[in-house]
Amino acid sequence: MSLDSLPTLREALEAHGLWARKSFGQHFLLDLNITRKIARLAQVGDGDHVIEVGPGPGGLTRALLETGARVTAIEKDERFAPLLQEVADASDRLTLVFGDALKADEAAIAGDQPAHLVSNLPYNVGTPLLIKWLTGPWTPRSLTLMFQREVADRITEGPGEDAYGRLGVIVQATCRAQRVMDAPARAFTPPPKVDSAVVRLEPLANRPSPERLDALQRITAAAFGQRRKMLRSSLKVLGGEDLIAAAGLDPQARAEVVPVAGFLALADAWLTRR
Ligand code: SAM
Repeated sequence: MSLDSLPTLREALEAHGLWARKSFGQHFLLDLNITRKIARLAQVGDGDHVIEVGPGPGGLTRALLETGARVTAIEKDERFAPLLQEVADASDRLTLVFGDALKADEAAIAGDQPAHLVSNLPYNVGTPLLIKWLTGPWTPRSLTLMFQREVADRITEGPGEDAYGRLGVIVQATCRAQRVMDAPARAFTPPPKVDSAVVRLEPLANRPSPERLDALQRITAAAFGQRRKMLRSSLKVLGGEDLIAAAGLDPQARAEVVPVAGFLALADAWLTRR
């Protein structure tokens, strides 16, 4: 059997008696035009290795396989095993792993080759997974990820914009981040309550060290924990005015207007003064 001769996604779901489970954050993309567009935005093809989290019925998986890429798909809901096995039988480039992606060892999955991450992420674990991929020991070559629109804004917006905060600082300190596609709620089955967007992230060559990232997490937690307060007050316990002066920032500034470079300077100042 080839990918072309697989049943439609709706037929496959029906044949296996499967439906979306809320507890697994399941909202499926059953329109292959949309999943093919995501695969194009991921810029993967022949010879690439893609790790996909949460294949569910396999719409995005099929589109990724059509590019010629090799795919390792990690799915928590084992009900999908027989359906996904049919896709694996149709393509010798698909490997299935059943388990929780939060606990997955991507370095072991990727081996010593680079791998790209592509996923229509489950809403309930999207942010912790992103933090794991950006701050953990293994770094993907690129990440093309569907998030709730509000989370996509938090990832991509900069200082002075409404959604700028901790997540944006951590992401933008480690990656080039771009919102590359919007997806209305009606694109999903069943439709979620909110719209979504695809974000493309390219990890920077000069990413901060784990120690600097850890310091950045501490600084941003304190600064954005009280985002309307001036830095001199929100950062009091971490060094207050002296720390802020060492970083060359205005102690009266609020976290929401401080650029990513400012937070990195604060992290560096905190590390040298510890
Ligand atoms: N990729 C499919 C699509 O686009 O139609 C399904 C996307 S659905 C939003 C999220 C998928 O992630 C579901 O299949 C769900 O079972 C799976 N999932 C949820 N939590 C997971 C976890 N911790 N690890 C791996 N997969 C998970």
